[in-house]
Formats: sequence, structure tokens, C-alpha cells
Amino acid sequence: MQFPTPYPGELWYSIIARYHKRSGNPFWYMSIQELFDGRNTSTLITGFYPNESIIMVHDKFPNVIDLRKAVLESTLFPYLMRFYPKEKKIKAYEDFVNGVDTKPRLYRYTKHDKLRYCPLCRQEDIEKYGEPYWHTVHQIELMPLCPIHRCRIREITTHKSLFSGRYTPMPEDDEPVFDCAHYEPALTDTLFAYYRMPFEASPNIESDNLARAMENAGLISDMNIQYTKYDGAKLYKALVDFYSPELIEQYFGTDIKMQYCYLLSLYKVMVLAFGESRR
Ligand SMILES: [Zn+2]
Repeated sequence: MQFPTPYPGELWYSIIARYHKRSGNPFWYMSIQELFDGRNTSTLITGFYPNESIIMVHDKFPNVIDLRKAVLESTLFPYLMRFYPKEKKIKAYEDFVNGVDTKPRLYRYTKHDKLRYCPLCRQEDIEKYGEPYWHTVHQIELMPLCPIHRCRIREITTHKSLFSGRYTPMPEDDEPVFDCAHYEPALTDTLFAYYRMPFEASPNIESDNLARAMENAGLISDMNIQYTKYDGAKLYKALVDFYSPELIEQYFGTDIKMQYCYLLSLYKVMVLAFGESRR
């Protein structure tokens, strides 16, 4: 049985799903048995973070699965690591391709209850490749629109374990929807830029553009300018006004607490990311 060659930007789960479809196996578990020799990989296959299931398939089909390419194109690894310093990113990447078990905090992204797709990408893929596939970029949860077609990304939601326990085909006859909120195109562009930026790119310790922008917007606490600490109430209101109460509540809750303002301060961010301070 041949293993399918990944399409550009194809999600890891999608590649496994196409293997299953081609195999003709009547049950998903039979394909999983073939690929993973009965090992329990159920939560890994749908993961957005590089995981052991990729290594196992690479070991079986080294001429089809390029380990490095799979990490960069079939998982959200580059996106999830976007705020990490260059050295930490590269170490995590090299550790993974060299088989070091890192168990990073970002492993929680291996568990989710959604698969997302764009109906127009689906149509184009069928025209170009003869079949649809799930795209890695669409899985960025905060991304509201397809960055190529600007229509709404659709979601299929199910119980967390179900995606990994079965083959999930993409829905058919799905009309694109172009209605969107005023901030959604810009948010889509920003997230797409993060997704596409070179893997080696990382935050610049010398730059404090964010702190300056916050200061200019009047969001620094009057009480604590020295530590460039944000004013939680003002920051929350600014976010709600620009985005929407629903989106902000989903990500921040009903307010931004004092301790989070402290963590957001430039000084703390630098200590967390670089293990050093400029003061
Ligand atoms: Zn699209």
C-alpha cells in the first residue's frame, strides 16, 4: 500500500485520512493498525503540534514523508512558536526531528474539537488534484476568513476523541459566505502573516514598538510607567470596542486581571522569552 504524497500545506490528519480513503479499508481502525502497528496514536493524529505519529509514518515511508517538511507544513508548529526566540524555536524543531521527546507545553494543541475548511479552497483542490483536503492554515482558531478567498472558514465540531477515532470527510455543496465584521479581514491578514513568516523570524529584543504603541494609545497605567504596565480596564475596553465583546470574552474572560497586566508588561515578556532583562 502506497502512502499518499502530501499536498501543499496539507494538515497531518488529512494525509492520514487520505491514506485511509485510498486503502479501501472499511474501518478507520484498520488503517490505523496498518500505519501504527496497534500503537495508541488516537489523540496524536489530529494534533496541530509535531508528534510521534509523524515520526512513525516517516519511518515506514521515508521516501514519501519528509520529516522537516511535515513539521513546517502539516502542523501549526511555526505559527505556535511565532513568539519564541529563534534559538528556542530551532532547538525545539531539531529536538523533534532527532527524536528527542520534548513534551512541550504546547502539546495541549494536540487536543481540539474542531476541523476547519474553506468551501472555495475545497472546490479548487478538487479541480486541481481531483480530491479535497484539509489545510493546515485554516486550523488557526482565531482566523475568521480564508486568507486566499476572504470567505468565512467553516467548522465541523465534534467530541474531541471522535476526530481522531474516525475518518471525517469534508461536507459537500457548501456555499461560501462573505459577510464579515469590520475587523475580520485585518485579523485574517495579521494571522496569515504570522503563519507565513520565515521560521527563523522571532521577536526583536531591541524593539519596543508594542510598548510605544500602547503608551501612545493611553493604555499604560498612570501608576506604573516605569514598569510599562498596562491598565487592564482601559486595555479591555479598547479591545472590546475594536473587536467585539464576544471575541474578547472568549479569549480573555470578562476582564484582564492585574496579574495578567503584569505578565503583559514589556519587562516581564522579555524575562519570560529571553531569560534576561534590560534593566
Ligand atoms: Zn479558501
